[in-house]
Amino acid sequence: YEQVNVLGVDFTKITNNELLEQLKLDNQNHSNRFVITANPEIVLYARDHPEYLAVLKLADYTTADGIGIIKGAKILKTPLPERVTGFDTLGSLLKFANKEQKSVYFLGAKPETIKKTINKIHHDYPTLKIAGYHDGYFTNDQEIATEIKDSQPDFVFVALGFPKQEFFIAKYRQLTPAIWMGVGGSFDVLAG
Ligand code: UDP
Repeated sequence: YEQVNVLGVDFTKITNNELLEQLKLDNQNHSNRFVITANPEIVLYARDHPEYLAVLKLADYTTADGIGIIKGAKILKTPLPERVTGFDTLGSLLKFANKEQKSVYFLGAKPETIKKTINKIHHDYPTLKIAGYHDGYFTNDQEIATEIKDSQPDFVFVALGFPKQEFFIAKYRQLTPAIWMGVGGSFDVLAG
């Protein structure tokens, strides 16, 4: 895919449908993938934090999560096709996982929130396999990473907020060939 640079961050020129089809293919091929849905806050933060910008560069797909990015790209005369948000992508992948009985690990949010999220997933996507889950307030990174690895998930959704979630994924993704994606506050939304 072509890349479009907006304020220092390379965005992937990709639509929602293309990303979904691509990730299904990646999953089929057991590829290890890192997806970032970057909003303007992330772009601004990366400008001031080179170590975070370096992590953004490790992503396989960086999508425009916000109309500000789309507008910026248009002004720069290197347009991006459409918004591709973390929440929408999460929804599409959960639907796919349910249909194809794929397994998913959920990491992040407060203990009571993640429980509600898991209940909701169980109800709305009954044939999706829950590989495991953990709240986002842990002290031993390595322990969680090992649990994820041992559960051999197809998808790992990390809701620790930025920049934490991207640092976590960049550090541990090589442990298991899954589709890894940071989903910010999405579990809070799902929990209702
Ligand atoms: N969070 C977490 N562990 C932390 C910090 C945050 O699990 O150490 C969770 C928090 O409970 C919330 C999400 O990460 O569910 C952050 O949501 P927010 O909307 O602030 O993130 P953004 O979408 O801005 O990245």
